[in-house]
Amino acid sequence: MRYEDLYRRSIEQPEAFWAGEARAIHWHKPPGRILDYAEPPFRAWFAGGETNLCYNAVDRHLAARPDQPALVAISTETGVTRSVTYRELHREVNVFAAALLELGVGRGDRVVIYMPNMVEAAYAMLACARIGAIHSVVFGGFAAHNLALRIDDAQPKLLIAADAGMRAGKVIRYKPLVDEACALARTPPPRVLLVRRGLDPDLAMIPGRDVDYAPLRENYRDAEVPVAWLESNAPSYLLYTSGTTGKPKGVQRDVGGHAVALALSMRTVFDVGPGQVMFSTSDVGWAVGHSYNVYGPLIVGATSLLYEGLPTHPDAGIWWQLCAEYGVRTMFSSPTAIRVLKKQDPAWLKKHDLSQLKWLFLAGEPLDDPTATWISEGLGKPVIDNYWQTETGWPVLCLQPGLDLKPVKFGSPGLPNFGYRLRVINEVTGAEAGADEKGVLVIQPPLPPGCLTTIWGDDARFLKSYFSHFKELLYSSLDWAIRDRDGYFFILGRTDDVINVAGHRLGTREIEEAVSTHPAVAEAAVIGAADEIKGQVPVVFATLRNAAADADAREAAAAGMVERVTAMLGGVARPARVYVVNALPKTRSGKLLRRSLLALTQKTDPGDLSTLDDPNALEEIKRALVRGPEWHA
Ligand code: AMP
Repeated sequence: MRYEDLYRRSIEQPEAFWAGEARAIHWHKPPGRILDYAEPPFRAWFAGGETNLCYNAVDRHLAARPDQPALVAISTETGVTRSVTYRELHREVNVFAAALLELGVGRGDRVVIYMPNMVEAAYAMLACARIGAIHSVVFGGFAAHNLALRIDDAQPKLLIAADAGMRAGKVIRYKPLVDEACALARTPPPRVLLVRRGLDPDLAMIPGRDVDYAPLRENYRDAEVPVAWLESNAPSYLLYTSGTTGKPKGVQRDVGGHAVALALSMRTVFDVGPGQVMFSTSDVGWAVGHSYNVYGPLIVGATSLLYEGLPTHPDAGIWWQLCAEYGVRTMFSSPTAIRVLKKQDPAWLKKHDLSQLKWLFLAGEPLDDPTATWISEGLGKPVIDNYWQTETGWPVLCLQPGLDLKPVKFGSPGLPNFGYRLRVINEVTGAEAGADEKGVLVIQPPLPPGCLTTIWGDDARFLKSYFSHFKELLYSSLDWAIRDRDGYFFILGRTDDVINVAGHRLGTREIEEAVSTHPAVAEAAVIGAADEIKGQVPVVFATLRNAAADADAREAAAAGMVERVTAMLGGVARPARVYVVNALPKTRSGKLLRRSLLALTQKTDPGDLSTLDDPNALEEIKRALVRGPEWHA
């Protein structure tokens, strides 16, 4: 079927469309109603239906493909590769689920998972899904403060952690971070389950709280844990993401809608089916990791590669070597990773047999034309940009190579995905933007299956964050966009203060709050400055309490701010430069003019400055930029 026809059907007859797509998954009890939209913008897809993500991802494939690899976890850090068949995955997930039950975890309980890209992270997620517990994976690169914020919001009954991760040959101990986060949290989890990889010989267990997974695994070797059938709209997991405030938002996903959207997108977008191999380079801690490393490929009976390591180690051909070795059909990565590879010898792209590789998907941040062209020509493969958000859980804008590939336009993530009724709206008047006219990208509700159902424990924040921007009830993506005459969309950056560093979403407010914990700092403003590799990097402008501090004191304070950010938020948020200044540009009502700061930093037009309180502040920033930062990476 042609893309246009199917898309039109998904918009004009959504219930018929999604009733058809729902057949791709197993229902213990079929849905009573395809869409219940009694309380807009809240909606319930497949209402009354009962299903289970773990059953769809694991049990359902036991009969047809027990000996096919389900997950292949490759670590070029530890040098260990573990290939797990569907039969083995079923066993391991049952064992893990039995351990969760023994630790008192049940239906609806939250479980925080803090682990690197190792196969046990997937076991833990699937085991939670099996018993109806709600997992919340926290990216291993986040530090104790971040972990504590998420613990306090999710209030987990259990935290599952690895002893350590590894990056660039260095062991990163997780346990001290877990202990620190539990000390910081107001509601620390009563139990901590540790999966030890032998990377941290000094690991100290806290009696009564910490539990070692190895003996539990031995005890429950033969356990069979029944699947908990869940109503389609019950929460399956929480995934925290940054917004404009310092407090992360717990994006809440459902069960049935998520499974159906993933099954559809695996087929039409990612073009991967039973027995085929998908390699997503994401970490399990991100939305891509949830959707296209764990649940998506498993739901369709494919093989999924999980990778721990750098794209350049042991050499810059490692990813292509893995593609050749495992017969990868679809690869999914980020523009930043490709820009890292672009610094290496292009001969690496030609060294391995890529005859089975069909597509390279890139997402998470804007894909620039030179990067897209370089990798597409280097590999001789089509590169497919796709746009989505943690909130949506699957692509909003994309092409559909599994169905009917429309021409690729570099710079555009493509056309609306099925079920997404997209509009571009003028941010002031709320009027529809014309072709090639800039506005805010919005989704007209009901949001399709797979998108967030609410923010955990905070419906009011869900409404305020996403549905309060226009007179009409519309989901704001908080991204600027234009639609061209052919219907292709272009994404032009965020409308809020969120920045995107190497595909990782960070709130400038979170970084400012971390900088401001330094005792010497009076006030801080953080912007995302353009960076050749990472897309954007955090740059700090800060005033000191002691305005008369000498050059040495200013440099020491700047270095201290960087330490604070790294300790509180982790290496992902580490600033690239810190400028110590005597004033920050603000409006008369005291709002930081981050956009003017960014414009000055990038030597572009600072825009409307009529609301500026103190014109000297701009001169001060200009002087600081000429003088150079007090600290730089
Ligand atoms: P996250 O929720 O961390 O995946 O971040 C989502 C944000 O990343 C979006 O709101 C966009 O600002 C940006 N983004 C994701 N994919 C793309 C893309 N293909 N092109 C441009 N921006 C993107």
